Amino acid sequence: MRKKLIFLFVASLTFFSCSKQGNPKLVVYIVSDQLTPSLLNKFDPLFTGGFRWLKDNGINYTNTFHNHGKTNTGPGYFTLSTGVYPGKGGIISNDWYVRDMKRSINVVEDTSATNFSGKGIGRSFKNISSSTLADWLKDTHPSSKVVSISGKDRGSILMGGRNPDLALWYDKDGGFTSSTYYLPALPVWVSDFNKNLNVLSYTDSTWSRLKEPGIYSKYARPDDFKGEKIVSKKKGAKPILPLNFGEMSPSSLLSGFYEYPQGDRALVNLAIKSISQLKLGKDNYPDILFLGLSATDGVGHHFGPNSVEQLDNYLRSDKNLMLLIDYIRDEIGLDDIVFILTGDHGVMALPEYLQSKKISSGRISSSQRKKVYSEILNQINQIIGIDKVVQYGNAFYFNKDLSKEEREVATKIIKKAVRYIEGVSEALSLEDILNLSPNKLNNRLKNMIHPHKGPDVYVLLKENWLWKRSYGSSHGSHYDYDSHVPLIISKNNIIKDYINSTVHTVDIPLTIANILDLNYSKNVDGIPLNVQFQSK
Ligand SMILES: [Zn+2]
Repeated sequence: MRKKLIFLFVASLTFFSCSKQGNPKLVVYIVSDQLTPSLLNKFDPLFTGGFRWLKDNGINYTNTFHNHGKTNTGPGYFTLSTGVYPGKGGIISNDWYVRDMKRSINVVEDTSATNFSGKGIGRSFKNISSSTLADWLKDTHPSSKVVSISGKDRGSILMGGRNPDLALWYDKDGGFTSSTYYLPALPVWVSDFNKNLNVLSYTDSTWSRLKEPGIYSKYARPDDFKGEKIVSKKKGAKPILPLNFGEMSPSSLLSGFYEYPQGDRALVNLAIKSISQLKLGKDNYPDILFLGLSATDGVGHHFGPNSVEQLDNYLRSDKNLMLLIDYIRDEIGLDDIVFILTGDHGVMALPEYLQSKKISSGRISSSQRKKVYSEILNQINQIIGIDKVVQYGNAFYFNKDLSKEEREVATKIIKKAVRYIEGVSEALSLEDILNLSPNKLNNRLKNMIHPHKGPDVYVLLKENWLWKRSYGSSHGSHYDYDSHVPLIISKNNIIKDYINSTVHTVDIPLTIANILDLNYSKNVDGIPLNVQFQSK
C-alpha cells in the first residue's frame, strides 16, 4: 500500500495537465507556410537542429487537418489565430470580390492605414471581426506582450490580432515593415535591421546544397525535373541548385527574397532581435511570439514538395529554428517556454512527378479555362443581363438583385460549361454545399462558405489537379494533401509522444489559451486539446 502511495505521489509530480501548472513565460507559435507532416517525417533522420529539438521534446499530433476548403494562407492563419472556421469568420480566401464595392479586396487591406515602406495599399487587422489568441492574452493580462513576424503581411497581421506590440512583415522591397494601424513609425531598431539586411547584396550569394550529394539522391527526386520553375535568368539555366542570386533580376530578388531559405533566416534573426528589444519572457506575464516562416511555401510553389530545393530548405529551416531555440535557452531559459509548430496549409506534388508515378494528375489549361468562363459570362449576359454575374478566381458572384429563377439559370449555365474544362470535377452552388451530406471532404467545403460574403457558385478541381499552369505547385483544395499539417507542441525535457487521433487546426488557439489559462471567445469552432506534458 505504502509503495502504491509513493508511486501515485511520484506520478502526480511527473504527469500533469498543462493548464494546472504555472503560466509559461513565453509561447513561441511557429507557423511554417506549406510545412507538411509527410516531409517532416521523410526527412526526420536528417534533422539535428530545431525540428529535432521540437520533435524530441514534443507531443506530435500526427493527424492534424485544416477542416476547411480553400486551403490558402489567409484562411489558414485566420483559423490558427481565432479557432473559427474561415467561412463563418468571413475570411473566405486571401482575396475575394466584394459586391457592394464592385471590386476585390485583400484580406488585410486597409485604405485608412499607411505602410511604413511607402509601398502598396495599407495593411491591418481592420477587416477581421473575430477575436484572436493574441487578443485573449491581452484581455487577460494587459501587461503581456505580443510580437508577430512573418514573411507575409497576412501571416503577421492575422496572428497578431487587434493590438499587438509589434507586427512586422516583409515589404517585398528589401525590408520588414508595419503600418500606421499599429505604430506611429517603424521602430529605429527595425530600420537598422533592414539596413544591415541589404537584400541586394545577396546578388553576390549562392544558394548551395547544405549536405553531400548522396543525401539528396536518397531523399529527393532528381534536381532537374520537368515542372520546376527556372528562377535564374541566365541563358540555358536549369531549375537546380546551386542557385546564384546574381542571376535573378534585382527586382525579383527584392520582391521574392522571403520565398527563399535566406529570407527565413532573416525572419529568424528578426525574431531573435525582437525578443531582446521587447524583453519577451522576462516577467511574470506570459508573452507570445508568432513566427510565420514563408520560405517553404515559396520553394514549394517554385519547385514542388519532393524537390532537392525543398529538402535543402527543410534542412536550413532545421538549422534556423535551432538558432532561435538556442537564443531563448541562453537569454530566458527553456523551462517556462512552450513551442507550437504547425502549418497554414499543405501542398500538392508536381503534376509531372505524380504522372511519373502513374498517378492521374494535371494542370488546368488557362486558355481553356478563360474560354469557358467567357462563354459562361456571354450566355448569362444574353439571358439575364449585363454585369449581373462576376467571375473572380474560380468562383462566380451573383448580384443581390437576381431573382430565384435567374439564379437557377445562371447556376445551370456554369455547371454545364465547366464540365468542358479538363481537371474540373464540378461546380457547386452555395445551396448545394449546404445540402451536402456530412463527411470529411464535404465538411471542409461547408466550413469554407459564408452565406452573404462568398461566391454563389464554386468551381472545384479533381483530386491531383492544379489551377497553376506551366510550372511549380500549389494548394487551396479541400483534399488531404492540402489540409494535412504538422502539429507539435513542445516543452523542454518532456517525454516525446505521438497522438494519432484526428484533430483540427481550429483547436490549436484554444489549446494554447488553455495552456495559458486564458478566457476565450465563446463563438469558436474548435475544442481545446487536453495537452499532458510528461517530464523526462
Ligand atoms: Zn502558397
